[in-house]
Amino acid sequence: MIPVKIQCGCGQRYAFDIEPVCGRMFAPVACPVCGADGTGAANDVIAFTLALEFSRRSDGKQTVMICAVIGCLIAGIAGVIKAVNMANGFDVLLCLLGAIGAFGTALCVYFWKR
Ligand SMILES: [Zn+2]
Repeated sequence: MIPVKIQCGCGQRYAFDIEPVCGRMFAPVACPVCGADGTGAANDVIAFTLALEFSRRSDGKQTVMICAVIGCLIAGIAGVIKAVNMANGFDVLLCLLGAIGAFGTALCVYFWKR
């Protein structure tokens, strides 16, 4: 289990423990106060928590890091596909930003470990 603490844009902080699936959230989370989606933020926390945790251990480190990077890349690709299928320009922009964020996380995790 990984403790995840999120600071929402509305100022609310919330925390929970999660068992990540391949370094990602298996279900979406939302702020308990304003309902804003916190899944992306949670995924970032998980990615960096996993990276920190496994940098202290040597066994299975490589496998988990690759898994985390692939998970981030899949999320990024999913974001791009979603954006392409959207009609509204603003939604497309938001989605692309999310996709770029996911790719960025993947690259950070990957290069940080090199
Ligand atoms: Zn909020």
